[in-house]
Amino acid sequence: MAYRAVPRQKRVVTTAKGGNSPSSSTTSSSRLVPEVASVDGQSSPASSSAKSKPHSYLESPALDTEVAKENVTVTVRFRPLSPREIRQGEEIAWYADGDTIVRSENNPSVAYAYDRVFGPTTTTRLVYDVAAQHIVSGAMEGVNGTIFAYGVTSSGKTHTMHGDQRSPGIIPLAVKDAFSIIQETPNREFLLRVSYLEIYNEVVNDLLNPAGQNLRIREDLQGTFVEGIKEEVVLSPAHALSLIAAGEEHRHVGSTNFNLLSSRSHTIFTLTIESTPCGECSEDEAVNLSQLNLIDLAGSESSRAETTGLRRKEGAYINKSLLTLGTVISKLTEGRASHIPYRDSKLTRLLQSSLSGQGRLICTVTPSSSNAEETHNTLKFAHRAKCIEILASQNK
Ligand code: ADP
Ligand code: MG
Repeated sequence: MAYRAVPRQKRVVTTAKGGNSPSSSTTSSSRLVPEVASVDGQSSPASSSAKSKPHSYLESPALDTEVAKENVTVTVRFRPLSPREIRQGEEIAWYADGDTIVRSENNPSVAYAYDRVFGPTTTTRLVYDVAAQHIVSGAMEGVNGTIFAYGVTSSGKTHTMHGDQRSPGIIPLAVKDAFSIIQETPNREFLLRVSYLEIYNEVVNDLLNPAGQNLRIREDLQGTFVEGIKEEVVLSPAHALSLIAAGEEHRHVGSTNFNLLSSRSHTIFTLTIESTPCGECSEDEAVNLSQLNLIDLAGSESSRAETTGLRRKEGAYINKSLLTLGTVISKLTEGRASHIPYRDSKLTRLLQSSLSGQGRLICTVTPSSSNAEETHNTLKFAHRAKCIEILASQNK
């Protein structure tokens, strides 16, 4: 796939979609348009550390009380028991029955129903097609989108969001899709930028720039943004994915036990999409600016058992931000105007503008008996975020 990089310097006016108000910013950068005879897609990409407004989060100043009904949907994904868990004689404590999740060992059984439940044999590709693809295509059309993976450590968040070579996750699938959509949209020119950050102990660190530590979240009439965060213009899926790989190297984790420590921070991969009509072929005069946030949340396990001070502190920050996230999502899905506590955590403050667009919370769970109570907590979180129906009364 190849794109022509077209130098550009103009004032951009955004359209109001997904609860956003019109906004404007000035950029000087390269643009992506599908091209028949190609220039090398690897050609040196422009890099920007956008000065006046690194993240063009769009919102109306009154967003605190603005709600978009049904904008966040909740999905649960089971992972299978791992070979080790099977060897250790783990049993199935929770299982999926259609879009309902049932606890095996209780009588009468406890069950929860959700928008959609994915069983342990479901591929990430299917999860993407059903739960993420429309959010990505919406973002390409100017509607902000956010996808979260929530769950305890080892439940499958990173498998779902990042995946690996054999089973690519939602982030690589979304990036590929975004470039395919550009190819299929000859009447618009696109500019894609990525940023990648980590929130560790309520501190925002730039994963694309090791010097970008403890960054401030600022707010202006157009919304919240991270001051000084690096945004890179990307010209190919491979380029975007190489930035993530480089960013992983800068995560706030030790070299040992990466999985455990990486679960102590939230990471947010943001694709900022700008598009303008091109040539004479366009009927749609709108200029769009939107963001797609793909988030691998910190492990949601209870921190009560933590012994060291640092671990307890991390746990307290994680608990608070996840609790706030649950409250914000449930208030958004209530669909009526009320105070939404975006400011109670860095995570929700940062996402304030995007959450008024389309959102998907993917709660990952393991069926294993040793995690039965933590799984129950995740199911309650998902249920609180958005309940369809309570099927039994014992689930409080
Ligand atoms: P988390 O990020 O929530 O801590 P991981 O995504 O690292 O958890 O998953 C833990 C382990 O389980 C990994 O080895 C991963 O490959 C495996 N795993 C997770 N989800 C699935 C799944 N749906 N299917 C198969 N293996 C999975
Ligand atoms: Mg992980």
